[in-house]
Amino acid sequence: MSVTRLWPTWASTVGGMLDAASLVAFRCKRCGTHLRVDVEAIAARRGRDASLVDAIGHCKVWDCPGRGYFLAALGPTTPLRPLVSTSVEELFRRAPPPPDHDPDNDPDRPPPCPPGINAVTWAYATASERKRLVGQARG
Ligand SMILES: [Zn+2]
Repeated sequence: MSVTRLWPTWASTVGGMLDAASLVAFRCKRCGTHLRVDVEAIAARRGRDASLVDAIGHCKVWDCPGRGYFLAALGPTTPLRPLVSTSVEELFRRAPPPPDHDPDNDPDRPPPCPPGINAVTWAYATASERKRLVGQARG
């Protein structure tokens, strides 16, 4: 039997978390790293109605193919709580299989860095910047 948690309004949408100035973090299930989440960037990409409750994200740690979940707190003195309606184990049990064995299917993962290009610049470049970088590297 699973218990479904009800979330306060501020935590159920990205816009609500922005309005509440809440702290949002991501925890990787694989490497255990906690990362601060840029909620404004998520709101800009997916809209203020997007929700991080029961969302599974990809770890942003260099070379970590892991996935993780989101946590939020109303302020620095409030403990972070997982934004998971049942349990973290249950969330990942129901999730589709990870694309670990086929990282090419991950749209957020940049294509491999060609020789002659700075790997960090490549990782943060947009698709059009990458075209320019490849052009520069070829001379
Ligand atoms: Zn990780």
